[in-house]
Amino acid sequence: MKPRPVPDDVTDFYWTAARRGELAVAACLPHGHLNFPPDISCAVCGARDLEPRTVSGRGRVYSFTVVRQAFDTSFAPDVPYVIALVELDEQPGLTILTNLVDVDPESVAIGDRVRVTFEDRDGERLPQFILDRGAP
Ligand SMILES: [Zn+2]
Repeated sequence: MKPRPVPDDVTDFYWTAARRGELAVAACLPHGHLNFPPDISCAVCGARDLEPRTVSGRGRVYSFTVVRQAFDTSFAPDVPYVIALVELDEQPGLTILTNLVDVDPESVAIGDRVRVTFEDRDGERLPQFILDRGAP
C-alpha cells in the first residue's frame, strides 16, 4: 500500500483543501508571499503570520524526472512514472514537487502546461498533476 498523507498542525490546511478538491498554499499576511511546502514561517520574508490561500492549480513543468525503478514495492505498478517540479501560475518560483499522472513519460517536456487533479488514497486526497496541453 502506498504511503498515506499524515496531516499535522502545519500541513492540515493543505490536506483539508485537497479533500475539497482544491489546492492551497500558505500566504504570508504582511506581504502575500505564497509558500510551498507548508512551513511555520514565510520562506521569503520570515513572517510567522500565514494563512491558507487557494490557488488555481494551474502551472508549468519546471523540471521533471522519469522513475524507472521502484524503490518502494507499492509504486512498482506505476513504473515508469514522472516526478515533476511544477511552477504554479500565481507566483514565479512557487513550485510544488508532485507526480504527473495519466501521461506517457516520453512525451513530457519542460514548459508543458499542467493542472491539478486529486488521487484518492486511503481516505485522503493527494494533489497530483495532469498535462493541460489545450491551455495557453
Ligand atoms: Zn512573506
